[in-house]
Amino acid sequence: MVAETTREGETWYECEACGLLFDDRDDAAAHEENCDAEEPSYIQ
Ligand SMILES: [Zn+2]
Repeated sequence: MVAETTREGETWYECEACGLLFDDRDDAAAHEENCDAEEPSYIQ
């Protein structure tokens, strides 16, 4: 799912699969549907 994060007063939407940031929730959701990241980058 899309994660919401706030940076310097602005809200961003992050793809939890690959960590990509979007300034629009719909863009983030559309990306996630097609995201082919096999491993979350934040899991080391
Ligand atoms: Zn992604």
